[in-house]
Amino acid sequence: MFPARSHLFFALAAVLLLPSCQVAGPSASHQGSWRKGYDLANAKYAAKPGWNQAPALPSSPSYSQTTYSSVPLSQPFIAMTFDDGPHPSNTPRLLDLLKQRNIKATFFVVGSNSKAYPQILRRITAEGHEIANHTWTHANITTLSTDALRKELRDSCDAIVKATGVTPTLFRPPYGATNASIKSLIKTEFGYPSIIWSVDPEDWKRPGVQVVADRLVAGARPGAILLAHDIHKPTIDAMPSALDRLLAKGFRFVTVSQLIALGQKSGAPTP
Ligand SMILES: [Zn+2]
Repeated sequence: MFPARSHLFFALAAVLLLPSCQVAGPSASHQGSWRKGYDLANAKYAAKPGWNQAPALPSSPSYSQTTYSSVPLSQPFIAMTFDDGPHPSNTPRLLDLLKQRNIKATFFVVGSNSKAYPQILRRITAEGHEIANHTWTHANITTLSTDALRKELRDSCDAIVKATGVTPTLFRPPYGATNASIKSLIKTEFGYPSIIWSVDPEDWKRPGVQVVADRLVAGARPGAILLAHDIHKPTIDAMPSALDRLLAKGFRFVTVSQLIALGQKSGAPTP
């Protein structure tokens, strides 16, 4: 799928943009230039008009909150998020479906899967999607020591940077399990806001393809963050119906960082 030259490109990018996965704290390194990596990885796509559907990219991520479950917006922008991948067959099929519709999404990847399928991470980035940190082992972080938590986040970030050259700027706690002090530590040391969701179709319980699609469509509101899992085949099966109905209702898909930036741009008060 990727020509040899692009492998070389990404290897070079990964070396030039050494991981800056922790911005503060005991083992902090200097702040990374996420934007440079993002621009490099998307250079040939960014030049194309309409490569994504947001009016503008944020000039730099600026997250005023430690947590976002949705963003107060009056315009019909939503963020579709996919957790726990990448998966060797389901994620590429999902990427095809998103590409056909020019929809950009956010992938909260698990580090061990990132390490196993770096070529899929490169495709996610190259096609204009956002990749975010979802720990290394999909741990319940409320049960971890602080050092173990730092290692989960750092190792996952390292795998993303190694594969793509792009430093993630968002985190989602597995199972949504977190608390105020953990969220504060993660924001301070890694710069990550914790991203929860406003629509959960509970697709991991396998309620059926139609039910998953219906729940996503029924829950969508301007500024919504929708949760799904690209490791489950029935979830991917639900996507054509869900995405087409959401598009037909006038929703436009952006990444989570774009959604947050749009909220700041609109000057809406924080909830
Ligand atoms: Zn998860």
